[in-house]
Amino acid sequence: MRKKIVAGNWKMNKNLQEGLALAQELDAALKGKTVNCDVVIGTPFIHLTSVVNAVDTTKIGVAAQNCADKASGAYTGEVSAEMVASTGAKYVILGHSERRAYYHETAEILKEKVLLALKNNLTPIFCIGEVLEEREAGRHFEVVKSQIEESLFDLSAEDFSKIVLAYEPVWAIGTGKTATAEQAQEMHAFIRKTLAGKYGEEVADNTSILYGGSCNASNAKELFANPDVDGGLIGGASLGVDKFMPIVEAF
Ligand code: 13P
Repeated sequence: MRKKIVAGNWKMNKNLQEGLALAQELDAALKGKTVNCDVVIGTPFIHLTSVVNAVDTTKIGVAAQNCADKASGAYTGEVSAEMVASTGAKYVILGHSERRAYYHETAEILKEKVLLALKNNLTPIFCIGEVLEEREAGRHFEVVKSQIEESLFDLSAEDFSKIVLAYEPVWAIGTGKTATAEQAQEMHAFIRKTLAGKYGEEVADNTSILYGGSCNASNAKELFANPDVDGGLIGGASLGVDKFMPIVEAF
């Protein structure tokens, strides 16, 4: 059975004290509560150690938002997958559209990052999604398929089964314009079919595919009710416990 996951992506928000306070507040909100999904928070690198130490990591998984495409060495300013893992973080968000667009991360670079993440026992939350022009041109399925093929399809079935996917249509990110439940389900079903074609039904059935893009307390229930939507990757609405908890509780 694939996991249901609600993951926050704080992006470049919250200084260390604010981030720690947010993580502690979420930890307190989850205490003694049974929720029907795994909860993950994706913090800036410098928060990782403090957040891992501050929360009950059996209830909150901690994610980095990126890692280097090299294992170690003279790469000033970079943070390796091994360093991320050494903080106790268990996940790493890779291939976010902001990294692809603003930091020129190519399919090849992302392939290296995925390999290094897996080598260090981190679960990659691998993001895919089309831009508006691609959707308007009817190319969204093709684009998403290529993103998956180019960075992930050299993995063995065993390694692929450790990946979580996040479909984030770029036109829905931070715009308040969510994909409709139908658009999300249609793409998620297509992604699962693509995975089945390569790795077989069992791997496809066991892969968690999250939706991201203006997901919030008012639309999460409808989005998550779709059979192929296994949770969400949440940006803006992960920055406050009052906004994030209702999404966690939407399952
Ligand atoms: P928003 O929820 O702010 O649209 O961001 C989505 C996202 O990019 C999560 O990775």
